[in-house]
Amino acid sequence: MFFLRSIRRRLVTGFTIALTLMLVMAAAGIVGLVWHQDAVAELEELLLRQPDRDRLMAVVAGIPDTLNLNAQLNLKNPDALQKLRHDYHAGIVAAEDEFQEFRRKLESIDQTPEMFRQQGLIYSRLLLVERDLVQLRQLQQALQPGPDPADVAPNAGSPNAGSPGARPSNAVAADTVAETFGAVIIEASRLNSEIRRTLSTLPAFHDSSQVLSSLGRERRRSERLLKLILILTPIAVALYGITILFGFRWISQPLRTIARGASRIGHGDIGYRIPSVSRWNDEFANLTENVNRMADRFQQSEESLQAKVEERSRQLIRSERLAGIGFLAAGVAHEINNPLSAITMAAESLQNRLYDVVDPGHPDEKEMFDRLSMIQRESRRCGEITARILNFSRGENAEKAMDDLTRIVGEVLAIIRPMDRYRDRTITFERVEPLMVEINGSQIKQVVLNLVANALQATQPGGHVEIRLLEQIDWVIVEVQDDGSGMSTDTIRNLFEPFYTTKETGQGTGLGLSITHRIVEDHDGTIDPISAGAGQGSLFRVRLPKRQSQQNAA
Ligand code: ADP
Repeated sequence: MFFLRSIRRRLVTGFTIALTLMLVMAAAGIVGLVWHQDAVAELEELLLRQPDRDRLMAVVAGIPDTLNLNAQLNLKNPDALQKLRHDYHAGIVAAEDEFQEFRRKLESIDQTPEMFRQQGLIYSRLLLVERDLVQLRQLQQALQPGPDPADVAPNAGSPNAGSPGARPSNAVAADTVAETFGAVIIEASRLNSEIRRTLSTLPAFHDSSQVLSSLGRERRRSERLLKLILILTPIAVALYGITILFGFRWISQPLRTIARGASRIGHGDIGYRIPSVSRWNDEFANLTENVNRMADRFQQSEESLQAKVEERSRQLIRSERLAGIGFLAAGVAHEINNPLSAITMAAESLQNRLYDVVDPGHPDEKEMFDRLSMIQRESRRCGEITARILNFSRGENAEKAMDDLTRIVGEVLAIIRPMDRYRDRTITFERVEPLMVEINGSQIKQVVLNLVANALQATQPGGHVEIRLLEQIDWVIVEVQDDGSGMSTDTIRNLFEPFYTTKETGQGTGLGLSITHRIVEDHDGTIDPISAGAGQGSLFRVRLPKRQSQQNAA
């Protein structure tokens, strides 16, 4: 599936789902709050549409109170009187408006069966209230400047209102006004009480004030909640963004680096190492370390494999060259065999003829027979040599027998020590006790001869060569050490190649060590050249198994 194909995609998908959920929840919260507010507003409106009996009573009750307070203090002050009149008028108008509103609401609300039954009673009471309101309005006339008590008395029904009087002087007028006001107040209070009593017999319909205030609180609460959600949502989204950012930095990026590095190593760049992806010692650091360690191992094994392949290739080339030389030598040996046989046979027949033709006692008789014998002996020796060459080139294992290595080294030294050119070098060989090993004596003699000759050739006059024989449980070790020219790494690498020589033309053939190597291998041994470098001397160490059968069995 596309969204799950990589860890990165899975993370993105997970984060997207979580973000969507968060946004959906925030949206649901906002929508819920808006609906809640709508419901509160609807309820509020419904309550406001109900007729409010108590409110009407309160408004009506306000009319005489205002009149009373002001009247006590300011009856003689025309301005105050004016204000009083104005307040009374305003009170009446407010009461009338409230009454009209009350009636309108009453007519518009849905009637309960109870209300329907009481309908006649309710409306008759309303008529009474309306009548009393009209009377209150008429009382207002009595408060006009220069009120005519005659106008007031019949309407108010006050006992004082109908007292006769001529046009008063200022003082008299003030008294009259006070009197009139007193009468109005009494009448207004009575009417007021009347209205409230009538109203109190009506049903209350409801007590909306508490519900309204509770709804107001509810509305404010939900407004605060809405603000909170609007503030918290962007903060939550920002926090979420930060989490995603760090999620990518802490998880996705290290994983990508490791995956890329592993792929690079996997594609053959085994020298590449994944850089550190985490500053903590966590799973990523662990994984990186293990992948790098694995790459180290790959590299090491590849290098050692490479070295082995190189060594094997060199051995192969060496064997091929030696085989070539062997083939050539075998051809030559084979070709030489015939003339050698002819020479031997000719020498023999000549010797036989000479017995017939040469007189006994001839002065040259002895010399002639000696020379002919020598020709036969040496040509037979040549035949043996060619036979050995043929054996060697055929790769036939030379016969091995228990032989004394100490004696063989002694024989080599017996050949070399008398040589004039090595007289000024010192050769040390201290071992005297025999060391019996299963070897081909003449081949191992050739090995020792080659190594000692090379060592002497590498030293300057006054140089020193030491030969050591060491015995182990199953092995013997022959060491030839000199303090001569030493060997570079390049020389050490090519030592056993046929025809490899650093000596001047005519001085060396470059075959000595390759043949030595071949002989040691035939004996299932090893040969190690060791040198610290040019001018540091050399050491050749040959290891041979004491018994061939043991070695083969192992
Ligand atoms: P050759 O002696 O004919 O050159 P070898 O196969 O015997 O052929 O030796 C090959 C080369 O190995 C020599 O040319 C020389 O450079 C180096 N060599 C062998 N033995 C020694 C030694 N003891 N000290 C320094 N170099 C040596």
